[in-house]
Amino acid sequence: MVYPEIEKRKTFAIISHPDAGKTTLTEKFLLFGGAINTAGAVKRNKANQSNTSDFMEIEKQRGISVATSVMGFEYKDKRINILDTPGHKDFAEDTYRTLSAVDSVILVVDSVKGVEEQTQKLMAVCRMRNTPVIIFINKMDREGKDTFDLLDEIEKQLSISLCPLSWPIGQGYLFKGVYNIYEKQLNLFNPDKNKVTEALVKVKDLDDEELTKHLNPKEVSGLKDDLELIGGVYGELDKDMYLEGLLAPVFFGSAINNFGIRELLDTFVNIAPSPKSRDAETREVLATEKPFTGFVFKIHANLDPNHRDRIAFLRICSGKFERNKFYYHTRLGKKLKFSNPMDFMANEKSLVEEAWPGDVVGLYDSGNFKIGDTLTEGEQLQFKGIPSFSPEIFKEVENRDPLKSKQLEKGIQQLTEEGVAQLFVQQPGNRKIIGTVGELQFEVISFRLEHEYGAKAAFRMLTFKRSSWITSTDKKKLGEIMQRRAHNIATDKEGNPVFLADNDFMINLAKRDFPEVEFHTTSEHK
Ligand code: GDP
Repeated sequence: MVYPEIEKRKTFAIISHPDAGKTTLTEKFLLFGGAINTAGAVKRNKANQSNTSDFMEIEKQRGISVATSVMGFEYKDKRINILDTPGHKDFAEDTYRTLSAVDSVILVVDSVKGVEEQTQKLMAVCRMRNTPVIIFINKMDREGKDTFDLLDEIEKQLSISLCPLSWPIGQGYLFKGVYNIYEKQLNLFNPDKNKVTEALVKVKDLDDEELTKHLNPKEVSGLKDDLELIGGVYGELDKDMYLEGLLAPVFFGSAINNFGIRELLDTFVNIAPSPKSRDAETREVLATEKPFTGFVFKIHANLDPNHRDRIAFLRICSGKFERNKFYYHTRLGKKLKFSNPMDFMANEKSLVEEAWPGDVVGLYDSGNFKIGDTLTEGEQLQFKGIPSFSPEIFKEVENRDPLKSKQLEKGIQQLTEEGVAQLFVQQPGNRKIIGTVGELQFEVISFRLEHEYGAKAAFRMLTFKRSSWITSTDKKKLGEIMQRRAHNIATDKEGNPVFLADNDFMINLAKRDFPEVEFHTTSEHK
C-alpha cells in the first residue's frame, strides 16, 4: 500500500557548531524551494554570544525562533520540513528535543575548524537514536584542513563511517569546484550569493577533454589521484547503512556562495527517510496507521506578557491531524480540540486544516501541555524518546518577594514544563533546585519570572555538577541509598529519584557502595 502524503514528507534538522553555516544553508535551501526570494530572509536565531546579559536580545531571539521553529517548503514534489535548532550551547536541550521530532539530519562542518565541541555532542544524540546523517563540509572557499585529514577527523571523532559523494578541487583561493562522483559532473565554483544556477560540466570520465578545458593538468591529475584513493578507502554508498545511521554521505561546498547546495538537496530528497515508525511506551506506532497520533516536543512562550498563551509544537506521527476535531490528551485524560492550529509553510505562519505524519503544527496552549505529551484519537499511549539530559549547573531557588510566592511557584512550574530548565525537589523542606546546561538559562528564567509572573527570585549556586537518575530492581537498596545519601538525593518533575553529585568521582564512589543501584545519565532508560 502506498501512502503518498507520508512518502512525500522529509522532516529534518540542520545541526552544527555555532558559526559553521547552519543559518546560511537553511536560507539557501529555502531559496531552492522557492519559499523565499532573497538571501537574508532567514533571521539569525542566536542569542548574542558575547554578552549573556543582553535580555532584550534574548527576547528578540525568542520572537524570531517562533517564526523559524519550523520551515516548510516544496521541492521536487516533496514536502520538506526543516526544524530549526538553536546554535547556542546553553540551549542544547532544546536542540536535543527537536532532534526527537526529525527523521534525519544534515550536519554542517566548517572546513577550517573541523569537528568542534558542539558537533560531537549533537552527533552523540543522533547516534542514540540511529538518526541518518548527511554531512555538508562548508566554507570550501576558505583555506581549510586537508580534505583527507578532515574526513579522518570526522570519522574518528564522530564515530561514523563516511562516503564522499562529491570531491573538492582545491580550496580557499584555489578552490575550483567539486566533482560530483556519482553523476560524473564537474561543478565549477562561481562565487555568487544569490544565484541558484551553477556552471555544470558533464564528463564521460576523468580523461574527458571537457575537464582539461576548465582545470589545469595538475588539478586533473590531483583529482584522479584523489578519486582513486577515495574509491579504495570509502567505497560506494550503502543506502541501508545510511538509513541505519551508520554511514554518512559527505558533500563539499560553500553555503554563502550557494555552491554545492543543489547536489546536497537533490541527494537529500532522494535518500533521506520519510516519516518512520516511532516507539511509544506500550508499542511501536507505524506512520501508516490510520488513527492520528502525535507528541509535543517544544513549547514556546508568547512574547506578549498580557497573553500567557503558549505555542506547543506537535510532531504528527501517524494518521491525519484535523482542525477542530477532538483529540485525546493521554496524560491529562481529557479531550481537546484546536481551532487555530498553525502551519509554517514558506517561513510564515498560517492556519492549517489538516496535517500528516512528519508535519509539525503549532497549537495555542493555555497550560495543558508539557514537553513529551501525547495526543491520540482515544488510545492510551505515551511516545518515548524525549529524555531529559543531565544538567551541569544547579542552583537553589530563593524567593525574594514573600508576597509573590504563588506567582513564583507557578512561574517555576510553567517554565520548567516548557523545558527552559529542569526542576528538582529536595527534602526536607521542599528545596527547589533548578538544573540547566548553561548560565544563560538562569538569566532567561529570572527575567521571565519577573516580567511574565511578577515574581522575584534569586539563585544560589550549589556545588553539584552532575546528576544521575537512579533505579534498582531491589527496592530496599534504592531506599537505602536515598536514606543514607539524602543530601545527594532529589526528585525530578515526575517524582523519580535523582542522585546529585559534585563530580564523577562522587558518582563512582556511590556506584561502588551501592552496586545494586543503576545510574543513568538521561531520564529515559530501559
Ligand atoms: P550558524 O551559526 O551555523 O547558523 O552560521 P551562519 O550561517 O550564521 O554563518 C556564520 C558565518 O559564516 C556568517 O558570517 C556567514 O556569512 C559565514 N559563512 C557561511 N557560509 C560560508 C561559506 O561558505 N564561506 C565563508 N567564507 N563564510 C561562510
